[in-house]
Amino acid sequence: MTIAIVGAGLGGLALARVLHVNGIDAAVYEREPSRGARGQGGMLDLHSGTGQRALREAGLIDQFHAIARREGQDLRLLAPDGTLLLQEDTPDDAPLERPEVDRPDLRNLLLDSLPEHTVHWGRAFAYADHGLLHFTDGSSATYDLLVGADGADSQVRALLTDARPAHTGQNTIELGIPDIDRTHPDLATMVGRGNYWVLGDGQSLSAQRNGDGRVRIYLSFNTAEDWFATSGIPFDDPAAARVRLIELFTGWDSRFTALIAACDDTVVPRSITTLPVGLTWPSTPGVTLLGDAAHLMPPVGQGANMALLDGALLGLALAAHPDDFPTAVKEYEREMFARTNTAGRQSAHVQAILTSPDAGQKMLAFFQPG
Ligand SMILES: Cc1cc2nc3c(=O)[nH]c(=O)nc-3n(C[C@H](O)[C@H](O)[C@H](O)COP(=O)(O)OP(=O)(O)OC[C@H]3O[C@@H](n4cnc5c(N)ncnc54)[C@H](O)[C@@H]3O)c2cc1C
Repeated sequence: MTIAIVGAGLGGLALARVLHVNGIDAAVYEREPSRGARGQGGMLDLHSGTGQRALREAGLIDQFHAIARREGQDLRLLAPDGTLLLQEDTPDDAPLERPEVDRPDLRNLLLDSLPEHTVHWGRAFAYADHGLLHFTDGSSATYDLLVGADGADSQVRALLTDARPAHTGQNTIELGIPDIDRTHPDLATMVGRGNYWVLGDGQSLSAQRNGDGRVRIYLSFNTAEDWFATSGIPFDDPAAARVRLIELFTGWDSRFTALIAACDDTVVPRSITTLPVGLTWPSTPGVTLLGDAAHLMPPVGQGANMALLDGALLGLALAAHPDDFPTAVKEYEREMFARTNTAGRQSAHVQAILTSPDAGQKMLAFFQPG
């Protein structure tokens, strides 16, 4: 029985790894030409009950602890006028409840744990029919079970549902300050070791220290789907884009606009889209989905955790029913639908707080209920 996984993201790799430790081979088809072809993004916080549970099932929890950043759990929450609303510093002996990890380190951990032939780079899925996968380069491969782990814009998803991601009314722009301790030590002290959030009405700024000394900055705006085209931000001219972005933060404390001014020329616009919460489909022998392909959520800390756990639990279900993939897929989907429905609701709630008027005070109440 041949298992084909489309997408070498966190979810697809977790599935391949759990299958491997259970003695089952799988082929992973990834459209990127090599592991280093594209930047993998910033930090992720892995939760003990979900993302870390997946790494435990994958036999990788000790290696994860070696690359996890406990101090990355630090949080500073501020208002646009500079008022500090909340500061949480992580004690050195704090439990690793939600440590941060650099996304490239986590992906490399998973990739290095697989036999070399597992991932087929440069194979972009185009369509599937009659047990054959077809790739955009004209090549093909057989499968008995096809797992779509191909992320937010999944092509495999169309085999199971007509649902498509919809815009949330939020757009973000990612910027970054390289080697901040050396280039801007004052801003480094201000941001601290973990997460730094400034929440305003209809827009926010968050900064996050990465393990390599880069601080990634995310500017978020409650704006329409076509805003990147209509905003007047010249994305092809990073210096001019920074000037325009600083204008958009007029009235905010000058320390926050100093963060934008200190950024390098990386400017990445990103529309925030989600799938409907609670999306399901009739179980179909021979094909299933995991991760963002199945349940794209707002980026508030659950997506990667769910993708990893999906991969691990599907791997365990297939290992428990090696001669009956339809039963394994049904069991996996039943649990996955219920679990990610809850996570999707929680994420939508946090996203609603982040994008609501008076977001700072509401987030403070969220962290300090009662
Ligand atoms: C700015 C930002 C911050 C985030 N922060 C967090 C966080 O702190 N915590 C958290 O839990 N989640 C976070 N998330 C969400 C998290 O990144 C995703 O939920 C997670 O990466 C989903 O994993 P995945 O394996 O499903 O998909 P992906 O990681 O997107 O992997 C999909 C893979 O499939 C490949 N692929 C796509 N199409 C094809 C094709 N046709 N053929 C072959 N391969 C294909 C892609 O190249 C990619 O390698 C964040 C998201 C964003 C945008």
